[in-house]
Amino acid sequence: MSTIGAILYDAGRTLLRPRMEAPDIWDFLGAQLGLKLTRERALPDIGHHFYSRFGEDGMGSYDSDEAARSFWASYYMQAMRDAGIDLPEETLHSAADALYDWYQEPEQWETYPETLETLEQASKLGLTQGIISDWGTDLVPILHAHEVTRHLDFVVASAAVGSAKPHPDIFRYALTRGRLQPHEVIYVGDSYISDVLGARTAGIEAVLIDREGRAPEVDCPVITSLLQLFDLIN
Ligand SMILES: [Mg+2]
Repeated sequence: MSTIGAILYDAGRTLLRPRMEAPDIWDFLGAQLGLKLTRERALPDIGHHFYSRFGEDGMGSYDSDEAARSFWASYYMQAMRDAGIDLPEETLHSAADALYDWYQEPEQWETYPETLETLEQASKLGLTQGIISDWGTDLVPILHAHEVTRHLDFVVASAAVGSAKPHPDIFRYALTRGRLQPHEVIYVGDSYISDVLGARTAGIEAVLIDREGRAPEVDCPVITSLLQLFDLIN
């Protein structure tokens, strides 16, 4: 790779992950609906739900707070319908909304074990660091609470800039924001389509983070820990 002056990161499942798992989500929804739900049920595939909306409003699923909320509401409502919950639309919508609110609380998120160490190390190397994320405007308080912002030069949340990945505009916005040229940036994310292909549309080289080793063979570097970024840069 050419000389890298900046690392830009995706947020969800790259720097941060939700604390709750499917059983916690079913407990939460059950409490909202006044039902005892099976905790062991898997949630519908989120990638499928997201990409099935491409061509409709898929690309815009995160370009405003309203869009992000409505995307997740539709996902949880689908999950509840798949689970055979036969309640009025408004009741399901209200439970889905409450779950979205719950996710906005910083305590519902945690950093990966190597997240802060990676940010610190990159800081010491004098690299510019920023986030480009498909997220609502609640992203910044969540990052603050987990001390992630301490090492960052900027955070670009799709809902705040009105453009979501994989559209090049959100990447170009971040380049302008950081006064960066595409060739000096490396971008890392966990989604091949949104992150790798998205970054490429803006001329940025991208790395896929695949902590569980689930990715098929892809045409970009793949890492299993953020710390491996430094091997790629050197
Ligand atoms: Mg992600």
